[in-house]
Amino acid sequence: MTSTPADIALAAERLRQGRVVAFPTETVYGLGADALSQAAVRRVFALKDRPANNPLIVHVADAAMAARCVHAWPTSAQALADAFWPGPLSIVLPKASSIPSIVTASGPNVAVRCPDHPVALALLAAFGSPLVGPSANRSGSISPTCAAHVRGVWTEDDVFILDGGPCRIGIESTVISLAGATPRVLRPGMITPHDLARVLGQGVTFDDAPAAPNAANAPLDSPGRLLSHYAPAADAILVARESLEASLTHGCACLLIDADPPPGVLCLRMPSDPQAYAAALYDALRRADAERPTRIIIERPPAAPDDQRWAAILDRLTRACAPR
Ligand code: AMP
Ligand code: MG
Repeated sequence: MTSTPADIALAAERLRQGRVVAFPTETVYGLGADALSQAAVRRVFALKDRPANNPLIVHVADAAMAARCVHAWPTSAQALADAFWPGPLSIVLPKASSIPSIVTASGPNVAVRCPDHPVALALLAAFGSPLVGPSANRSGSISPTCAAHVRGVWTEDDVFILDGGPCRIGIESTVISLAGATPRVLRPGMITPHDLARVLGQGVTFDDAPAAPNAANAPLDSPGRLLSHYAPAADAILVARESLEASLTHGCACLLIDADPPPGVLCLRMPSDPQAYAAALYDALRRADAERPTRIIIERPPAAPDDQRWAAILDRLTRACAPR
């Protein structure tokens, strides 16, 4: 049931009161609040139980609004916005003084993104000002990819939920920093380093070494890089197809791409196309987790060096399976 104009007007009114609204984007559902209000942003951190050193992405209606959130809007940023916005790309640049430091976890840079979802864009248009939008889940758990994943987490009074159906992309945005000497991907996503390099006309580095676990008080360069993240409650393991049978335990659940389903085990079939796999992943992890399995066994996706979208998926799977 998608949101009506009346729902969007009500949501914008709540935002003007400094309150929090969950809204759909093409990546995952976000927890929206007035990005220019320190009190509203503080409420988002509290609701998510999010560490204060984990900065928030600022959602904007268009490149002009993004340019007002940053100290300067370079031609490289405009080129990326022209190519990929609205879309699943967040751009990190030195922040404007109008952005409260709580948004950037006291850091000098801010991440900005224009989401490609009609409800998100309608909300931004109605509110008329930037919104923070971290994923609408408690810190550390699996990001929500439909409104049902957000319901029941908070009270209606704390978080008003706009329903926009299931998320088309299904994993979080690619984050690219243009704040350093060379463009650098901080978090992989469905827009790949290859896509970015083509538009920028220069190489884009990607450091895929995850941040050390439990470096809790260190300033986080890109907090999505925490080793354990996007994690189900059950232990999850990533297993090559040939080794699946050997890793089965009584009461386990499996996410399989090609492998034959072992008898007597809850098996969720995953798509072999990366776009479809990403869109299905978080709901599949939640459904497997809901069965309280002894462990979740995930068939390792194909090694596909020519398609960097699989690398973004593998990034999320590795974190879901990391020791906590
Ligand atoms: P989430 O809102 O849960 O998707 O997480 C936001 C992610 O965006 C973080 O984990 C970082 O990877 C990235 N991010 C947000 N703001 C910044 C920033 N100022 N500098 C670097 N990375 C950022
Ligand atoms: Mg998140």
